Amino acid sequence: MNTEQLARANVRALTPYQSARRLGGKGDVWLNANEYPQAVEFQLTQQTLNRYPECQPGAVIERYAAYAGVAPEQVLVSRGADEGIELIIRAFCEPGEDAIIYCPPTYGMYSVSAQTIGVACRTVPTDENWQLDLAGIQAQLDGAKVVFVCSPNNPTGQLINPDDMRTLLEMTRGKALVVADEAYIEFCPQASLAGWLAEYPHLVILRTLSKAFALAGLRCGFTLASETVINLLLKVIAPYPLSTPVADIAAQALTPRGIAAMREQVATVLRNRQLLTEQLRQTACIAQVYDSQTNYVLVRLADSDPAFKSLWDQGIILRDQNKQPGLRGCLRITVGTREECQRVLDALSKQPSLTTAENP
Ligand SMILES: *Cc1c(COP(=O)(O)O)cnc(C)c1O
Repeated sequence: MNTEQLARANVRALTPYQSARRLGGKGDVWLNANEYPQAVEFQLTQQTLNRYPECQPGAVIERYAAYAGVAPEQVLVSRGADEGIELIIRAFCEPGEDAIIYCPPTYGMYSVSAQTIGVACRTVPTDENWQLDLAGIQAQLDGAKVVFVCSPNNPTGQLINPDDMRTLLEMTRGKALVVADEAYIEFCPQASLAGWLAEYPHLVILRTLSKAFALAGLRCGFTLASETVINLLLKVIAPYPLSTPVADIAAQALTPRGIAAMREQVATVLRNRQLLTEQLRQTACIAQVYDSQTNYVLVRLADSDPAFKSLWDQGIILRDQNKQPGLRGCLRITVGTREECQRVLDALSKQPSLTTAENP
C-alpha cells in the first residue's frame, strides 16, 4: 500500500473547503470572504504563555452569554464557528449510519465536515425564494440527526422565514437537532433565534467573531444551546481549543466598549451596503441585485465568468457562486470600505451591458 492508500477512503475522496484564502488571487481589493475591511487594534494583557489556557475561558463565556442574552451554561466557545459545526456532527452523528440535512445554496462547511467524519449528507434545495422546503425536509428526516439552516443565508443574504423555523423545530422535536447558523446575525440582530432556546432543547445556534466583530483572523466562534447539548459538545472538544492570546482578545472584544465598536462597524457596513446596492442596481451588466441582511450582496449577471475574471485581473477579488445550485451567473460581493465599493462599481460599469451580453 502506498501512503495515499493508507488514508480513509472518504478522506481520499474529499474536496477540501474552497476557502477564499485557498482560492488565492493577487488582489488589493478583497471582497470574497465577508471580512470587515479594516483591522481593529488590541493589546495582549495576559503574559502567561508558559501555562496551558483554560478550555472555556470564564470571562469570554460570561461576556458572550450576557451579550447573547443566555446563561453561561448555554455557551460553548471554539476555534471559529466552523469548529462548532464539526463538534456538533462528531457528537451527534454515527459515521456510516446517521446523516445531516442542509439546504443549498448555502454555506459549504456543513458538507465538508460531514464528509470528513464519514457522515452522509442529504440536501433539500430551497425553493425559488431560497426559503425552506419543509415537506422535502420532512421526507428526508428519518435517520438524520442534524438539520443545518443558515439564517441569514450565505451566500444569498436573506433570512429564513421564522414561521418555517418554528415548523421545522416542531417537526424535529425528539428526532434531530436544528442548527441555526447566525454568523451574520449582528447585521440584523432582531432576527436572532436565541430567545427560542428555552422552548426548544434541540435548537443550536452558531455565532462568530469573524464577521461583524472584525476578527476573522482570531478564529473564535460560539455555540448556543441547551446545557445538555453544550455538555455533550464539551466531551468531544479539544482540551485547549483557544490559545491564551485568542481568549485575551475575545474577552476584550466582548466588553461594553468592544460591543459598542462592533455596533459602529455594523452601522458603517449597512451604510456602505445601501450605497453599493443602489449603484449596482444602476449598473448595466447586472441583471439582479438581491436584498441582503448581511455584509455582502449577491448579484446575478447574464454571464458572470468574464466579469469575475476581468475584476480578478484588476486585483478586485469577488466570490464566484456561479457553480452553486440555482446560482448561475451569481457573484457575491462583500461590502468593503467606501473606496472599495467604488472600485467594484467602476470596474463593473466597464463590463458589457446586459442587453449586449444577451444579444451579442
Ligand atoms: C464565516 C461563516 C462561518 C464560520 O465562521 P468562523 O467563526 O470564522 O469559523 C460559519 N457559517 C457561516 C454561514 C459563515 O459565513
